[in-house]
Amino acid sequence: MLSLLVTNIGELVTNDPALGEPPLGVIRDAAVVLDAGRVAWVGPSASAPATDDALDAGGAAALPGFVDSHSHLVFAGDRAAEFAARMAGEPYTGGGIRTTVAATRSASDSDLRANAGRLHREAMRQGTTTIEIKSGYGLSTADEARLLRIGSEFTDETTYLGAHTVPAEFADRRDDYVRLVCGDMLAAAAPFARWVDVFCERGAFDEDESRAVLQAGVKAGLAPRIHANQLGPGPGVRLAVELDAASADHCTHLSPDDVAALAESSTVATLLPGAEFSTRSPYPDARRLLDSGVTVALATDCNPGSSYTSSMPFCIALAVREMRMTPAEAVWAATAGGARALRRDVVGHLGSGARGNLVILDAPSHLHLAYRPGVPIVRHVLHNGVLLS
Ligand SMILES: [Zn+2]
Repeated sequence: MLSLLVTNIGELVTNDPALGEPPLGVIRDAAVVLDAGRVAWVGPSASAPATDDALDAGGAAALPGFVDSHSHLVFAGDRAAEFAARMAGEPYTGGGIRTTVAATRSASDSDLRANAGRLHREAMRQGTTTIEIKSGYGLSTADEARLLRIGSEFTDETTYLGAHTVPAEFADRRDDYVRLVCGDMLAAAAPFARWVDVFCERGAFDEDESRAVLQAGVKAGLAPRIHANQLGPGPGVRLAVELDAASADHCTHLSPDDVAALAESSTVATLLPGAEFSTRSPYPDARRLLDSGVTVALATDCNPGSSYTSSMPFCIALAVREMRMTPAEAVWAATAGGARALRRDVVGHLGSGARGNLVILDAPSHLHLAYRPGVPIVRHVLHNGVLLS
């Protein structure tokens, strides 16, 4: 593999304050050397070392590839009509998950793989170089394992979400379903998963059920993360902290105790503003979290029901406009924050030794990610040192 010099970067976000101006470690007139899939050197263009190959960024801004730590890419079907009904005034209850489960169960492996691949390419074109993918639309032992096997063809960050909702055939025996999720289904899923997740919410899984699911996952070698406090107040965030989950995702309805618990923990609060946008719901209070010292990540929650976007730039724009995050906070949350939410230290920054994941914008500054919403602002994506587009 040839070494590559990316040069003439007008503004480089490194997310390493030791390398440049805080808070994002910005270097002006910068260059990056990528070698063997990793960042080998970062610094001013003028002092860049010799390499085999070079790419001129033309004075544009560059930053680490986005880390999307929450997505549901393996599914079949379409819920555009449900979206339209919601925009016409019907509330979001989470009940539409069963529609996707029915479509997913009857889809072939190749159809699921093709749909996930299409969305994965769509995300990468918009600068996502690390993505987490959940199961959760199979809800049977064979289908959950199948979804995770397909998801693991795209990423190492796969999450077992058998506890997404109770499927219709278990409606009258939910205890049996929780036992299945913690037993045979987990055993079949675990070889293809790194994480275990649960939708801890009124109408989904309660505190005791959620704890049982996450503890069973941990016992099987998976690490916990959780859908928490999306639709109303609840025990999810406290449970996340109790179990040292890597991330509590959504965090829309938090008590003062929830915020304090997060601030004292190593659990990241992952905010998913695409879900509030697409369900026309109140956004999480990002300022309260940040001002309390909570580590915040941004992710897409890409799924066919409540947030059908794969665009991290769109989520950054929403976070700045609707959640009062600064552009720097939003960019950090979409890169380094996502890496924290996945407990990975080799992505989300451009320090020496980091993965060679770099996004070159069609803009002079990272500010344009929020300033120019809805435009194709990503010009080039380098993934593990290889130029994708
Ligand atoms: Zn989700």
